[in-house]
Amino acid sequence: MVHSIFGGIHLEGRKEGSRRKPLSVPDVQPKQVALPLRMHAGEPCAPLVKAGDVVAVGQPVARGEGPVIHASVSGRVVGVEARPHPWGDACPAIVIENDEKDTPWQNEVPDGDWRERSESDLIECIAQCGVVGMGGAAYPTADKLRAARGRVETVILNAAESEPYITADHRLLLERSEAVLTGLTILQKAAGAKHGVVAVEGNKLNAIEGLEKTAQRTNVACRVCGVPTRYPLGSEKQVVKAVTGREIPSEGVAIDVGCVVFNVATAYAVYQAVVEGRPLTHRVITVGGGAVVRPRNLWVPIGTSVADLIRAAGGLRERQAKVLTGGPMTGTTQTDWNVPALKSTNGVICLLDWERGERKPESDCIRCGRCVAVCPMHLMPILVAKELKLGGDPVELARLHTEDCMACGCCSYVCPAHIPLVERMAQAKNIVQQEEREV
Ligand code: SF4
Ligand code: SF4
Repeated sequence: MVHSIFGGIHLEGRKEGSRRKPLSVPDVQPKQVALPLRMHAGEPCAPLVKAGDVVAVGQPVARGEGPVIHASVSGRVVGVEARPHPWGDACPAIVIENDEKDTPWQNEVPDGDWRERSESDLIECIAQCGVVGMGGAAYPTADKLRAARGRVETVILNAAESEPYITADHRLLLERSEAVLTGLTILQKAAGAKHGVVAVEGNKLNAIEGLEKTAQRTNVACRVCGVPTRYPLGSEKQVVKAVTGREIPSEGVAIDVGCVVFNVATAYAVYQAVVEGRPLTHRVITVGGGAVVRPRNLWVPIGTSVADLIRAAGGLRERQAKVLTGGPMTGTTQTDWNVPALKSTNGVICLLDWERGERKPESDCIRCGRCVAVCPMHLMPILVAKELKLGGDPVELARLHTEDCMACGCCSYVCPAHIPLVERMAQAKNIVQQEEREV
């Protein structure tokens, strides 16, 4: 059974450009990759290599408290240099000149059946292979599993790609379904969860049918759940509600209601780590949008620049395109195309003028209530905007639960007065956090 979710909006999918094309590797390898030391949630990693070192694919090149970064190409380290970062500002990155030989590092290929390994051994393997949440959060997967152990009964694989243009997970489900389902089973064992669910949007019938057949053939006991095609179903709170009917409390996480959620690409990386002994060095990225000549899903080394990714998709029709990493609703606009793809980059979307939607001048609120009706977090953006106009009292703003805003942008999207409500929510959140820091 699928449970209804509150709020959200229907968006035009615009996925035709890439969803039918099989995963491909670029015709030309990147000449260089840049691996930023800040690639995960938490503190940045420290480099383990220096200029002049020769590295192989899969060799650890930086390490933090938990996360590890591995070389994604073989070649010579140019240095640890400040490079533009897709999250903003510059960040030290390990720059590797690609020798295009793809020399593999001597990873230990695990002996025997992974089912015989202990839970802590599986979690340690996932940590050493540098696996993180690849749907955007980049939270170390091993830490999430440690927090979930003994507290959850359901692992949910979130395959609800509700942002327009992005089809990376869809292609992984179609082409690597057996590996993804094995990844789910490993995650279940590591978290000590009885049930496994794959949540797929109801309009991806080929993925649903393919997963059901693969699960039957490989004896994987999981439920494939068709969830509504509605933005922002890709978020953790919405997907847990749709699959289980449980509401995650304000400031809570899925583990509080007995679930833990992972992205499809993360499950695939877990499979590669545990079954093949491969660290996370490559990922699928959708290069799409009307400005791209040949939209597609590319299997690329992490650290490949946005410019190289666009080139690998045939280049741009228009130099003036707006380029984003991530989808058009929550992605980040990139003005410097030298920024590298991170472990959590699922798309590079290049939009033409007509696709961007013109930003119209803001007018007065007409109290239509649409922003309240679409907010999946049951917030009242209209009241937040009003309070900010009055001066923004931190106590009043905190009472409106601004910290629960997940910046999905639904309120701004529907507002007939064109008030940038998502920006107002961010402003309000900052005021509340600032006040909390000062108290
Ligand atoms: S951006 Fe925040 S306030 Fe607006 S709809 Fe999304 S969660 Fe609600
Ligand atoms: S959607 Fe815009 S115009 Fe309508 S109530 Fe909200 S802020 Fe006011």
